[in-house]
Amino acid sequence: MRMKHRSSATDSGFTRRRFLEQLGAIGGSSLVMSAMTSWDLMAGSAGQRPELSGRPAKAKVLILGGGLSGLVTAYELGKLGYDYQVLEARARVGGLQWSVRRGSEHTEVDGERQVCTFDEGQYVNVGPWRIPHSHRGVLDYCKELGVPVQVFLNESDASFFFYEGTAAGPLANRRVKLREVKADLAGQVNELLIKAIDQKQLDLPMTPEDQRRLTNYLIGQGYLDSSTRSYKAFANRGEGDPIQLTQLLQAGFGNRLRSVPAIEGTTAAPMFQPVGGMDQISKGFERAIGPKRITFNAEIQAVHQSDTGVKVTYLNTKTGKKVETTADYVVVSMPLNLVAGLDINISSEMMTAIKAVSYSNSAKMGLAMKRRFWEDDDGIFGGHLYSNLPLGEFSYPSNDFFTRKGVLLGLYSNGPIGTLMDQPIAARIEHVLTHASKVHPQIRAEFESAYAVWWKKVKYNQGGYASGRNETRRQQLSKVDNRILLGSAAVTPHSEPDWQEGAVSAGWQALTLVHERAMRG
Ligand SMILES: Cc1cc2nc3c(=O)[nH]c(=O)nc-3n(C[C@H](O)[C@H](O)[C@H](O)COP(=O)(O)OP(=O)(O)OC[C@H]3O[C@@H](n4cnc5c(N)ncnc54)[C@H](O)[C@@H]3O)c2cc1C
Repeated sequence: MRMKHRSSATDSGFTRRRFLEQLGAIGGSSLVMSAMTSWDLMAGSAGQRPELSGRPAKAKVLILGGGLSGLVTAYELGKLGYDYQVLEARARVGGLQWSVRRGSEHTEVDGERQVCTFDEGQYVNVGPWRIPHSHRGVLDYCKELGVPVQVFLNESDASFFFYEGTAAGPLANRRVKLREVKADLAGQVNELLIKAIDQKQLDLPMTPEDQRRLTNYLIGQGYLDSSTRSYKAFANRGEGDPIQLTQLLQAGFGNRLRSVPAIEGTTAAPMFQPVGGMDQISKGFERAIGPKRITFNAEIQAVHQSDTGVKVTYLNTKTGKKVETTADYVVVSMPLNLVAGLDINISSEMMTAIKAVSYSNSAKMGLAMKRRFWEDDDGIFGGHLYSNLPLGEFSYPSNDFFTRKGVLLGLYSNGPIGTLMDQPIAARIEHVLTHASKVHPQIRAEFESAYAVWWKKVKYNQGGYASGRNETRRQQLSKVDNRILLGSAAVTPHSEPDWQEGAVSAGWQALTLVHERAMRG
């Protein structure tokens, strides 16, 4: 193989960099982090928790919405000694942080009702499900609140690639294991490189000693035979001959390989999840806040501020009665798409900014299985299927390994998947089973029940997470509007899109702003 680059450069660092770039270009794409989903964007840490002191003489705060952002604000206000109350429309805290288990239920906004019939102990996180290790805002709260976490496996070498369509070439419609793809790509690319080095076809301004070291590295990293310097399939890669490099390149599998992520996001490793479901975090906050400070079934209907205070009207959805309550300040931690429809007297600039925020079309489906066939039959432990099937992400649970039953994430999409959203739930389930059975033929026989959550159709959310770049939406949304301020993840100063870490940072921002405002009086 001939590399085009001819170096006359005296700067050997430059030449080595070009060498690595070309290595990437010929298929060593494990060096290059590639997008697994459309949601693979910046998701930095929320940074330092604010350290505030002092307590204003008169400061009652109402927090509207008991999702993670509202709970963080409430919990921290409590530490400062504020008089506060969380008003939450649902009968539970957590909002998007929802782990569906036996008895969970919801009725879609256009009518269809589901009740989860999973076995006791089985669950699926239908909102957030993984926490990058760098999200110390969230993870430190887990520690503080006594919420145990476990590793979330983002990759399993035994999981399959399965691409449909002629573009994938001879590998189309074939199950190919990730470990075969990794080994065969690395092996064959490294073999080519070593040949090029041996034949002096690579003009590397490296010392002979460095060339020898590089050769040894390529042999080790590419599973090459050290005497023949050639690649042959080996036992741990799996049975059969190596897949031809040209076929792997045509299928494009290499673009899905993960290594060190270039940015924080869905490919970060390690990742974590709370033991027993993501909702354990909000339950931890609920315990710490105490039952008196949270009013459930309180559907906010109006928020009216004056120069002296704020009047909030909510519907008690259990009794059907309207209730009025007052406070000095109000933190609105509800999704902004719902605030847009609220009877609330805030500035027109603020309302315009609120209305400009759009929310993702996120959907998830849990599939309860009688048997963990992916573990028993295929040796897959956690991780995801790599496919172009219309399922978005299809994933295997990172909990309760070597038990009998399990819940697969049959579909996770953040954008429209055809007309699925408008179809009856039974048809959506059929869609998922049809496509998933191309890879896992056992799925129909092992299927017990499904639970589908299309967040656009879930009351009190009607959307997933706020989409679009946060800096463009933040500036106005992070202002204090006399006695009202916004505290949901959509105003996060940190993540894009709005991870739970974004909800934490938005909660901290609301806490700081309300405290500064209250101290001014
Ligand atoms: C499908 C999906 C997957 C995700 N995956 C991840 C992930 O893996 N990791 C991660 O870190 N983040 C993830 N996120 C993002 C994360 O879930 C959010 O950033 C975070 O949960 C937002 O919290 P919040 O409190 O701002 O909003 P919400 O959780 O939406 O809370 C808003 C609260 O307001 C309440 N409310 C609404 N209307 C009213 C009303 N009229 N009256 C009173 N209360 C009301 C709601 O009931 C709710 O409790 C995901 C999001 C989605 C949708």
